[in-house]
Amino acid sequence: MRRRNFIKNMGALGLVSTVSSLPAINKTSGYTLPKSSIKVEDGWDVIVVGGGPGGCTAAISAAREGAKTLLIEGMGQLGGMGTTGMIPAWCPFSDGEKIIYRGLAEKIFIESKKGVAHEKKDRLDWVSINPEYLMTVYDQMVTEAGVKVLFFSRLASVKMKANDTVDALVIANKSGLTAFKAKVYIDATGDGDLAAWAGATFKKGDENGVVQSSTLCFSFANVDTYNYVNGPTLHGGNANSPIHEAVKSGKYPLIDSHFCNNLIGPNVVQFNAGHIVNMDSTDPWAVSEAMIKGRNIAQQYLQAMKDLQPKTFGSAFIVKTGSLLGVRDSRRIEGDYIFTVDDWLQRRTFEDEIGRNSYYLDVHKAGHKSIHYKKGESHGIPYRCLTPKGLKNVLTAGRCISTDEEAFGSLRVMPPCLVTGEAAGMAAQHAIKQSDNDVHKIDVHYLRKRLKEENQYFL
Ligand SMILES: Cc1cc2nc3c(=O)[nH]c(=O)nc-3n(C[C@H](O)[C@H](O)[C@H](O)COP(=O)(O)OP(=O)(O)OC[C@H]3O[C@@H](n4cnc5c(N)ncnc54)[C@H](O)[C@@H]3O)c2cc1C
Repeated sequence: MRRRNFIKNMGALGLVSTVSSLPAINKTSGYTLPKSSIKVEDGWDVIVVGGGPGGCTAAISAAREGAKTLLIEGMGQLGGMGTTGMIPAWCPFSDGEKIIYRGLAEKIFIESKKGVAHEKKDRLDWVSINPEYLMTVYDQMVTEAGVKVLFFSRLASVKMKANDTVDALVIANKSGLTAFKAKVYIDATGDGDLAAWAGATFKKGDENGVVQSSTLCFSFANVDTYNYVNGPTLHGGNANSPIHEAVKSGKYPLIDSHFCNNLIGPNVVQFNAGHIVNMDSTDPWAVSEAMIKGRNIAQQYLQAMKDLQPKTFGSAFIVKTGSLLGVRDSRRIEGDYIFTVDDWLQRRTFEDEIGRNSYYLDVHKAGHKSIHYKKGESHGIPYRCLTPKGLKNVLTAGRCISTDEEAFGSLRVMPPCLVTGEAAGMAAQHAIKQSDNDVHKIDVHYLRKRLKEENQYFL
């Protein structure tokens, strides 16, 4: 029965020509699939695609609310940009006065700090990340919540049962293609693959489609920790950083003065440095070129530091570059509400807010000026930014939520992504219980009550 359903679905996708022509190897329209791939995995309540910060908290909270939850991730570890992408630090968890990303976000943050013993216990802002440690934090929290995880599996296609309702996700992995069915789906792919392929409207970049620059992060080992800690601040924000001399010299043509760096463990410094301009992360050819360029950029930064800071970096080498390209900007799925830069500037509060955010307008484009809040200021994040217009049983979490391009510069970072994930996971299970899987019709007062019970912070 399951096999027949799958074949019907694949037929609708144009992948299977006839049922009768399916012996050991399936004859498809010009393609062959191994027999083992012909199956439907049914019976899930919630499927989350993408195991970054947004996807992990979405899966944990859906499972905690009682949903039978599957988390599908294209790579072999959880954490997305913060682990596989090797981002070296958490953006601030405080509004300058108190921690404002609470609930699961705070729990993950506190656990992750155990992996960076050199950080001060009470530090809340720009805390460094040990990616291998953080992966295990996510592994543990996700599995303890009862989430089933499927690694090395990519969303390849979306099957609809009506214009507004997703029926199944077609996943590609070592079993070939498998259709996974749930009642509610959460898009935490960062790029909004699921919602876009289900037909949601989206924006990418500015009015000309230009996106913020990408960065391939990397780490150096065998750094002299004493000289690193006691030497000049290397960050490009320091006018006296040697990075400026390196850029000016013209000897390292691929580098620029974007040079964030953190000690992540003994003698290991991790970098978020350099820019790959206007790279479209939904174009695999562009991503492939950018990975090659990113590795060359990392080599040039190493050479520059060896030349200019030999006591610190003379014996250093690149121990790792990201296995995921650091993509800042991609599809923003249009929700019932689009959070705008005006909302950000007005520090707006919303009746349906599910969390708060205080991160600055951090847009990585030439000439863009950052704007910061004062201490203690923040804005609300409306639930309606997580509900894609025109899709009944889909939510978004993480950086693909509904914002304009400039406000996105603030909401795209990991602490708010953790917060939107927790709300999306909870809302998914509430939609199953309350509104026939319709994420637009849940009782938002109840969602906010449950989030408060889990210690989330909002007004
Ligand atoms: C260079 C750079 C520097 C940054 N610096 C900081 C910083 O210092 N501090 C900070 O807090 N934030 C920082 N950010 C922002 C932050 O890391 C990301 O925006 C955040 O991780 C987004 O979370 P997410 O869960 O939405 O998606 P991601 O972290 O992008 O995770 C998405 C996950 O989905 C998976 N996936 C994608 N497509 C598919 C598919 N089709 N099928 C299956 N799986 C899929 C990916 O493999 C990935 O694991 C930075 C971002 C970049 C790019």
